[in-house]
Amino acid sequence: MHDVAIIGAGPVGATLALALAGCGRDVVVLDPRARGATLRGDRTLALSHGSRLILERLEVWRELAKVEGAVTPILEIDVSQARGFGVTRLTAAEQDVPALGYTVSYVALQRALDEALDAAGVAVRFGSAARAVRGGPVAARVEVDADTPGAIEARLVAVADGAGAQVDGVGRDRQEYGQCALVASVWRDAPHGGIAFERFTPTGPIALLPERDHYGLVWTVDPARAAPLIAIDERAFLAELARAFGARVAGFTRVAGRKSFPLALERARSLVGPRIALIGNAAQQLHPVAGQGFNLGLRDAWALAQSVLDAPREELGSPRMLSRYAARRRVDRSAGIAFTHGLVGVFGAELPLVGLARGAGLALLDIVPPAKRAFARAMLHGLR
Ligand SMILES: Cc1cc2nc3c(=O)[nH]c(=O)nc-3n(C[C@H](O)[C@H](O)[C@H](O)COP(=O)(O)OP(=O)(O)OC[C@H]3O[C@@H](n4cnc5c(N)ncnc54)[C@H](O)[C@@H]3O)c2cc1C
Repeated sequence: MHDVAIIGAGPVGATLALALAGCGRDVVVLDPRARGATLRGDRTLALSHGSRLILERLEVWRELAKVEGAVTPILEIDVSQARGFGVTRLTAAEQDVPALGYTVSYVALQRALDEALDAAGVAVRFGSAARAVRGGPVAARVEVDADTPGAIEARLVAVADGAGAQVDGVGRDRQEYGQCALVASVWRDAPHGGIAFERFTPTGPIALLPERDHYGLVWTVDPARAAPLIAIDERAFLAELARAFGARVAGFTRVAGRKSFPLALERARSLVGPRIALIGNAAQQLHPVAGQGFNLGLRDAWALAQSVLDAPREELGSPRMLSRYAARRRVDRSAGIAFTHGLVGVFGAELPLVGLARGAGLALLDIVPPAKRAFARAMLHGLR
């Protein structure tokens, strides 16, 4: 029997595995993908300053930063709303940090994590997928699909597969936002200067995240509008985008890689089950509006690692150890979900008074420094 089995060596599962490397526990990691590859292609991840600190401690950040174009610092965030008067700008200098956050290529991060796992001698069974996870009183059992199918048992199974779907006995809630995220790479006629733009529109927020020589676009649109926006030619698309941004951003010159996916808030009803703990997107999948989801997942991994390191071997996966992990995550998780959900709710509704209130909220944020600092702290480190 293993001490810990980690289902999924994506960014969150790999972070947990690295945090446990060399701690004298018998850890096994499963993932159906090949080493260095991903099953989902690339995407722009928004990393907070706090997430950088976790990756620094695991010595992943230094290697990642060496890869040309893998990391782009966000020096300012310009927050505005369509048809409203509120505008606020958060700056790294004001918050006294080197950057408010970073954009990172998912593929580059995965490669850096895989190399770190390799260097740390962590056993990852690539090409192996968990089919079902069942908890029990002394161990959890994982049915595995691989070249040689079989099962593994562990005192504690950490589910980090990005979905949490095959976990027995842990229910999930899903709330559709009735919106799609249209993602693409967008170029302008001027350098981005490390400035990210977040704009709230009647159909939902749009974010432009600086990445290498362009921006990663995340545009919340009505599902009926997503397909036409993907199908229209480049000029027409850039004109629509310029219209959505109004005077805040102009000079769009190119777009590439348009695709869309439906948006929902999905979360496990409990972070733990018998001998089972959920982390990352397996635990909660958020609207990408505030770039909180991945950062929350990294903090799940870090907290679970601390709970494992604090427990004697015979306590791994025990109700006591699991409730300690759940307690460590309670406030940050609920606040992260509420913060993101609140932004979508407040800025999504198209009622005149709501528009006025949110405009006032943004204007106040800009002139009342403590409120602005609290907002910035949430973006930098999460809410605790
Ligand atoms: C389409 C999309 C766009 C996104 N865009 C952004 C964005 O712009 N900015 C941002 O910050 N966040 C974004 N996110 C969220 C971000 O990608 C996640 O927060 C992050 O990937 C979570 O990491 P994870 O390791 O928990 O899950 P994942 O990244 O999903 O990794 C899960 C891992 O588990 C493995 N796996 C899957 N099934 C099994 C199985 N049965 N057995 C074993 N292993 C398995 C997979 O191969 C993968 O390696 C986006 C998410 C989606 C779906």
